[in-house]
Amino acid sequence: MVLTTGEYEVYAIKYGTHARKRSENFIMGDPHEGPMPLDFYVWAIVGNDKDGKQQTILVDTGFDRAMAAKRQREIFRTPAEGLQKIGVNPDSIKDVVITHMHYDHAGSLDEFPNARYHLQDREMAFCTGRHMCNATTRFPFEASHVSTMVHRIFEGRVEFHDGDAELAPGITLHHIGGHSLGLQVVRVRTKRGFVVLASDATHYYENMETMRAYPVVVDVAQMVEGFKTIQKLATSKDHVIPGHDPLVLAKYPAVQGLDGIAARLDVDPK
Ligand SMILES: [Zn+2]
Repeated sequence: MVLTTGEYEVYAIKYGTHARKRSENFIMGDPHEGPMPLDFYVWAIVGNDKDGKQQTILVDTGFDRAMAAKRQREIFRTPAEGLQKIGVNPDSIKDVVITHMHYDHAGSLDEFPNARYHLQDREMAFCTGRHMCNATTRFPFEASHVSTMVHRIFEGRVEFHDGDAELAPGITLHHIGGHSLGLQVVRVRTKRGFVVLASDATHYYENMETMRAYPVVVDVAQMVEGFKTIQKLATSKDHVIPGHDPLVLAKYPAVQGLDGIAARLDVDPK
């Protein structure tokens, strides 16, 4: 790992969206029906290496335009284009954390030619094993993404983790079960405290706040326990960043000129 500063800037970059209803976002439905759109993000952690050179760790790789068409999702820019908007060249990325192998988190793996991928053992076993024989369990995964990751493994470009791991001073990975067997979240030290990039450990603030699981889930009990774990890992509730909530861009200050596209998460919410 190249970063050594111990305190980082963190960015949420929105690349797409999908129209959903409230009843689709909670496992037992929701009595107050209405629109509750789901946004697609990747996240960037920016710091300096020992020579003072700026380095970025990317968290998740989203999906590309072909996948958006296949899954009928709206895409505004590819994750690599989103990174360029905040001034980061995708070729410069040396480390990518894949929180889990779902289609909206582990696509466009060819866009980062110099990256090494950080993944939980359990996630790779899950998405290449017996559970992918079942259409319900398989639905959020794409064989093309999984097979690309297999190629990355054979190229020596994947670093596996089993549970908690330190990626750099002040940046740690934590396994949270529930949504996918090997999902991991990223805890990052910032000047306002420890921010937790929760990814799909909680899709929306409301899943965590009301302890109601999202319907794409392999273990409801573990997902609900995960809501508590991510809050313990973060300095406060306001330091947990859900994986798909449009409120993230509403709450945090936009990067200059990138309203509705990118926000700073290492500064206090508005
Ligand atoms: Zn997911």
